[in-house]
Amino acid sequence: MRFHIMTLFPDIFTSYMGESIMKRAIEKGIVELYTYNIRDFSLNKHKKVDDYPFGGGAGMVMTPQPVYDTYRYIVEKFKIENPQVIYLTPKGRVFEQKIAGELSLAEDVILLCGHYEGIDQRIIDLIVTDEVSIGDYVLTGGELPALIMVDAISRLIPGVLGHEESYEDESFTGDLLEYPHYTRPREFEGLEVPEVLLSGNHKNIAGWRQDESVKLTRQRRLDLYEKYEKQVNASKSNKKRKNK
Ligand code: SAM
Repeated sequence: MRFHIMTLFPDIFTSYMGESIMKRAIEKGIVELYTYNIRDFSLNKHKKVDDYPFGGGAGMVMTPQPVYDTYRYIVEKFKIENPQVIYLTPKGRVFEQKIAGELSLAEDVILLCGHYEGIDQRIIDLIVTDEVSIGDYVLTGGELPALIMVDAISRLIPGVLGHEESYEDESFTGDLLEYPHYTRPREFEGLEVPEVLLSGNHKNIAGWRQDESVKLTRQRRLDLYEKYEKQVNASKSNKKRKNK
């Protein structure tokens, strides 16, 4: 899968993508990451990429020309048909695991990082196919949101994680948050590992984990718990109907 990042700060991506799981994914050729410095495409003699907003007001706005030319360059170079262009913005739909799952099936994803007050609306109207936010707060730029998306999407691509199971049991894969984990030592600062995890009884371990997941989700995320409860009740009444 190829990620294309349009940004004013391409160096931000080098360090994160050069470490750990993301580094391995790139080395294995499962993930390709291309960054494009929007400033390089500016036709302004001073390579300017922003200007004052029409109508007045605080801050600067990214001008359309350099962004549009960056986009054209990517699409033509990689011959991308129906390009999927995501603008990172607090005004977008909130990013979640389901969106990461859908995007992990794509061949090319173009991520557009804004800065200053944002980007001229005509760019959004012309080339953007989706607007995504990473949460209800405002950052200085779209680079961290883009990295978050690249990371969350990449780890769902087969072969990126060591074992496929690594994400199958995780929080948000179903409607439940994940159960707690323990490792060695068996006792730490007076706290013991729950006995059931040492029992070797896989059925009991699975049952304990499921119970812990349900308990945690009910305590912390009532919205998810209610979804889960609905599903459980629906499958119970389906079974009853079948048995009649
Ligand atoms: N004026 C904009 C507003 O009120 O919606 C905020 C602009 S913000 C200072 C600059 C850039 O950071 C945005 O264009 C966007 O690319 C990025 N950004 C900031 N917060 C974000 C968030 N929660 N999710 C995704 N991108 C964000």
